[in-house]
Amino acid sequence: MPSSDKSKPLVQQTDQADALLNIAFNAIKTYQAGLQDKPAYPSHAVLDRLKSLDEGMPQRSSDPVEILQGLAALGDATAVPTTGGRFFGFVSGGLLPTGLSARMMADSWDQASALHAMSPLAAELERVCERWIVDLLGLPQETIAGFVTGTSMATYCAFAAARLQLLKNAGWDFHRDGLFGAPDLKVVVAENAHSCIWRALRLLGFGERHIHRMPTDQNGRLRLDSGAAIDEKTLLILQAGDVNTGGFDDFTALCAVAKEKNAWVHVDGAFGLWAAASKDYAYLTDGVEAADSWATDTHKTLNAPYECGLVLCRHEALYREAMQTGAAYAPLTDKRDGMAFVPEMSRRARAIEIWAILKTLGKEGVRDLVNQICERAALMAKLLRAHDVPILNDVVFNQVLISGDTDDHTGRMLAFIQASGVCWCGGSSWKGRDVIRISVCGWETTEAHIADAASVITESYRQS
Ligand SMILES: *Cc1c(COP(=O)(O)O)cnc(C)c1O
Repeated sequence: MPSSDKSKPLVQQTDQADALLNIAFNAIKTYQAGLQDKPAYPSHAVLDRLKSLDEGMPQRSSDPVEILQGLAALGDATAVPTTGGRFFGFVSGGLLPTGLSARMMADSWDQASALHAMSPLAAELERVCERWIVDLLGLPQETIAGFVTGTSMATYCAFAAARLQLLKNAGWDFHRDGLFGAPDLKVVVAENAHSCIWRALRLLGFGERHIHRMPTDQNGRLRLDSGAAIDEKTLLILQAGDVNTGGFDDFTALCAVAKEKNAWVHVDGAFGLWAAASKDYAYLTDGVEAADSWATDTHKTLNAPYECGLVLCRHEALYREAMQTGAAYAPLTDKRDGMAFVPEMSRRARAIEIWAILKTLGKEGVRDLVNQICERAALMAKLLRAHDVPILNDVVFNQVLISGDTDDHTGRMLAFIQASGVCWCGGSSWKGRDVIRISVCGWETTEAHIADAASVITESYRQS
């Protein structure tokens, strides 16, 4: 029964809705305004404040204004500033204000994009974004897109479709007879593939024994001569942007071999597939359109908010068969029903912010974004090279891979950089040695940010 007591929070949520929105809006503006003055990563002392969260769930209700003010202060202090231009860890991607603002509106509309009926707006925008992105990335016109959380989920979806097709090739009815007792499939993949690849293969039951991990060249590119025989029961996994080096496979040659054998080709293009949107970098993705499926993120290179990934597949009927769904209360229609393209049902309407970004930037804006990110990475490499910091990769896109003279030296450099507060980089290992990854992926990164970061990194090399 609704409470008539004004002190109860459910009532306050109505009375105080305005105050709560203002707290959020002010918190966003304060955070954005303060970004350049913050250390590149919160200090241990600041992060110690997170210990205050460790309490049992409160018995009594509290004033939402007070709670949100506390959250705003805690978040402002402890959020990792992945936006702002000085964060080069992982492949984080910046945050375009258009995307942030569109997402805030979308969240207030609380649209679910399972069925067209649930949100014609979200459904239409999925359809439009799908067409625009397929065109922008130069993929076959018949390619469909599923809007998922990220490349990990996109990979999972694409492999589910691949599994269905390859078992069909082997004369096996997967939906009727299942996976147990099915013919063996084979996977050919670079040994340095992203961890999400191994996980998706495991979740889908491909079996370690059937996975052929292939050696690669210094930039992580699959070697043609390394050929485990490819046949019509093979899933060949290629990369547009290795997570360490940013290297791109030779799609033209590899897809030609695979097509001849009727294998399935999947491309992990989490951040690198966007090279296709710039004529200056499109040579890297030459031939990529010959693949069967692709996984990419918009929350990396396109600088959309997090949880915006895309699975792309050129075989619509087969793909829909793999994702088969529908319920008496939620039947699929002949309109765009988002859940026909993904494993989930209720999902945020993430096409709203993707559309806002694409519509604002236009093709030229996306090209400029890709170019700027890559040029800043090239500048970083140039400045470091001028100071003799060892660069291990061929800097073709947005990744710069460096190391010290020994693994210990690299470890000390990384600690020095991470403690500097000037910029933040993460560690990794590459071809058996410890390395430091510098990933330039945000529109916010200026040449001055690069110069400051390059000085600190050079100093770390000299002094560690
Ligand atoms: C980030 C990344 C992934 C995983 O993407 P998520 O969006 O984090 O799931 C996969 N492959 C590559 C090359 C990546 O950079």
